[in-house]
Amino acid sequence: MTSIDLINKAPAGTKLWLLHCGDLEVDAAFFMRMGGVSTHSNPNPDHVRRKLVLIVALIEHPTEGLILFETGAGKDYPEVWGAPMNDIFARVDYSPDQELDAQIAKTGHNIKDVKAVIMGHLHVDHAGGLEHFFGTDVPIYVHEDELKHAFCSVATGSDLGVYLPHYLKFNLNWQTFSGDFLELAPGVNIRHAPGHTPGLCIMQVNMPESGTWIFTTDQYHVHENYEASHPQGWLARDHDDWVRSNQMIHMLAKRTNAKLVFGHDKECFDSYKIAPYSYQ
Ligand SMILES: [Zn+2]
Repeated sequence: MTSIDLINKAPAGTKLWLLHCGDLEVDAAFFMRMGGVSTHSNPNPDHVRRKLVLIVALIEHPTEGLILFETGAGKDYPEVWGAPMNDIFARVDYSPDQELDAQIAKTGHNIKDVKAVIMGHLHVDHAGGLEHFFGTDVPIYVHEDELKHAFCSVATGSDLGVYLPHYLKFNLNWQTFSGDFLELAPGVNIRHAPGHTPGLCIMQVNMPESGTWIFTTDQYHVHENYEASHPQGWLARDHDDWVRSNQMIHMLAKRTNAKLVFGHDKECFDSYKIAPYSYQ
């Protein structure tokens, strides 16, 4: 490891939990390039439906307190999203213990004790849980490009649906940053990785014992996006930016021998231990 990696390691005693905030069932063409495409020889291909997970991470940091990475979709999101969104991105296998506050309770903490929230991006399935922080002074860290794009998308209707107005409120303590890299706390790093959205950021956590973790949010919905370097299907936005971010993340993962957590990949998520188990 280089000296900067040693300096940037989270202190002893830092804990990391993976929280399971629900399941969706979605047509794979949303996140698999060429998924379900018709051809001359196969004009009516089978539609592949795939189960996805809603993932949140919680860090207990000795000097910074509780840091949340993303928030899940929020309470009653099928009703909040409405039709046809709640049919396209269908909630399945719901149980009340998938609510964000219940998941945090599994770690022995209370959601009211969260000291900071990092938003990888502001799409509905990641940011709906910001409702828990309305009217509080908890800083919500997000890239400036993402906040501008989210508000503009809703205000003009240019990308309404993937962003919704119910959590893009002025009673949240938005804290924006710009540039490519922010070391938010010792061992907790945010890297701008545009493509899926203009201000998407991945989180790189250098844990004292389990090593480096990279939470990619929806730069990669599923492992195939990463392994084949294939941008998403219908959810892809800026292809050139995505390709540049993809290269950066591959190099970073190689250098740090990182464990990757993709945005919604059930197989990947199930390969790790979830809360109440904590990684050190
Ligand atoms: Zn998502």
